[in-house]
Amino acid sequence: MAGSKRPDTSNVLTGETKKKLDAVFQPIALTDDVIKRIMAVYQEQMRLANSTDEKVRKTSDHLMMNTFIRELLDGTEQGVYLGLDLGGTNFRVVVVKFTDGVADTKTKYYRLPDAVLSGLSAGVFDFIAESIEDCLKLEGLSDSKEKIPLGFTFSFPSIQISLKKSTLVTWTKTFKCPDGVGEDSVAMLEAAIERKCPGLPVDIVVVMSDTVSTLMAGNYLDKRCRIGLILGTGSNAAFVENIEEIEKWTGDYQDPKHVIVNVECGSTGDNGCLDFCRSKYEKELDQHSNHPGSFTFEKSVAGLYLGELARLVLVQLVQEGVLFGGKQVDLVERRWALTASHITAIESDEGQTTTRTKKVLEEFGLDSIATDKDVAIVREVCDFMSRRAAHTIAAAMAVLVNHVGRPEVTIAIDGSLYERHPKYHDSMMEIFEKYSPNTKVTLILAKDGSGQGGAFAAVSALKQNAKGIR
Ligand code: BGC
Ligand code: MG
Repeated sequence: MAGSKRPDTSNVLTGETKKKLDAVFQPIALTDDVIKRIMAVYQEQMRLANSTDEKVRKTSDHLMMNTFIRELLDGTEQGVYLGLDLGGTNFRVVVVKFTDGVADTKTKYYRLPDAVLSGLSAGVFDFIAESIEDCLKLEGLSDSKEKIPLGFTFSFPSIQISLKKSTLVTWTKTFKCPDGVGEDSVAMLEAAIERKCPGLPVDIVVVMSDTVSTLMAGNYLDKRCRIGLILGTGSNAAFVENIEEIEKWTGDYQDPKHVIVNVECGSTGDNGCLDFCRSKYEKELDQHSNHPGSFTFEKSVAGLYLGELARLVLVQLVQEGVLFGGKQVDLVERRWALTASHITAIESDEGQTTTRTKKVLEEFGLDSIATDKDVAIVREVCDFMSRRAAHTIAAAMAVLVNHVGRPEVTIAIDGSLYERHPKYHDSMMEIFEKYSPNTKVTLILAKDGSGQGGAFAAVSALKQNAKGIR
C-alpha cells in the first residue's frame, strides 16, 4: 500500500504524537467494512433511481439521468463544432475542427466574476453569450455563413427532457444565483444570445453534464472508456449503459442499444444513507457551505472541500494542544482558507522532503512558529484526508466498473483536483485492485475534456437527429 510518494515522518514524530494522531484518524478511517458499505449504498441508490415507480425513484438521491446521447464518435467526423463548459471556476469555449475523425481543439478560458456567480442567472448566461462571441471573433468564425453546431456542457443537476432541453434542479458549488431553478438552460442561453449578440452563428444542438462530455472525450482517446468522472470543484460521474438494463427507459430500441447515463451522485447521502461514515468534520463543513444539507457526497470528495476538511482536522489538533503548541493561529480561525491547491502543494512533498509544506505554512504566517513536528503533522493530516477522499470516490467508481462488467474499463477524468493532486490516482487504484478484481481499470486524464467533449456530443446529436433516434 505505502507508495514512495507518502510522507516519511518517522524521523520527526514520536510514538506519543503518532498515538494522538491515530486517535483522530481512527474514528474516521475507511476500513474494508466501511468501503463495502459505501459500495452497497451507492449500488442501492442506483437501483432505486432506475425504478419505473416515481415514488421509489424519489427515495434515491441519485438521478440516473438519461442523457439521450447514444452515438459515440467513430472516426469519420468532419467539420467545425463548438463546445461550452460552464460549472467550475473557469468558463470555457472550445472550437473543434475535425479532419477524418481527428480533432484539432482550441480552448479559450473566461473567468466568471464573483458578482456574476451570485447575481441573477441572466447575468451568467449573458456572460456566456459574450464569451462565445469573443471566441468566435478571435477564431475568425464570427462571419460563418452556416450556423456552427454547439454542445453545451452545463454542469449542474438537471432533469434532461431531450437532447437539447434540460431544466435546472439546483445550483451547486460556487454558483448561488437566486433564480434559474426549473428553467431550461438552453432556452436561457438562447435568450441571452438574442439579448447580447443577436445573429451569432451558432446552433445549440445538445446540452449535457460535464461527466458526459468527459466520457465522450475519453472515448475519443481510448475506446475502452465507458465512464466519465469529474474531480474538480465538484464531483459526479456518467457511464455507458445498455438500454435493456434501464427499467425506466422510454426511448426507442433501435441501434445503438446503449445510452450515456448521468449518475448525478454528488448528492448521495442527502437522504441519510451515508450517515454511518460521515465524520464530524464533514458535518461542520456542511453547515458553513454555500448549500447546507445537500451534496453530501461531493463534500467528501471534491476540490472545493478537501482543504477545508483537512483544516478542520488541524483545528482539532491545535485545540488538543498537539499542533502549533495549541496557539490560536490564523489558519485555525479562517474557514475555507486552506484550499485544494494548498493540499496538492503539501502532498507534492515526498518522503522526508518538506519544502512545499513549509511554503504553505509561510503563506499563513506560520513559518516562525512551526516546528519540524508541526510540519510533519500537517503532512500526515493532508495525506490521510486526501487518501480518505480518493478512496471514497473510488469506492463509488468501483460500483460503476463492476456494473459495466467488461474485462477492461477506462475511466476518463477531468478536473483540477485529479489533474494536480500527485496521489489521487494511486490512492484510487488501491480501491480498484481490491474491489474490482475482475476488471483491468485504467484512469486517464481527459484534460479540458468537459469542453472538448461538448463539441463531440454535438456530432452525436446531429447523427442521431439524422437517423431519428430517440
Ligand atoms: C453537479 C454535477 C456536476 C459536478 C461536477 C456537481 O456539483 O451537481 O452536475 O457534474 O458538480 O462538475
Ligand atoms: Mg469543470
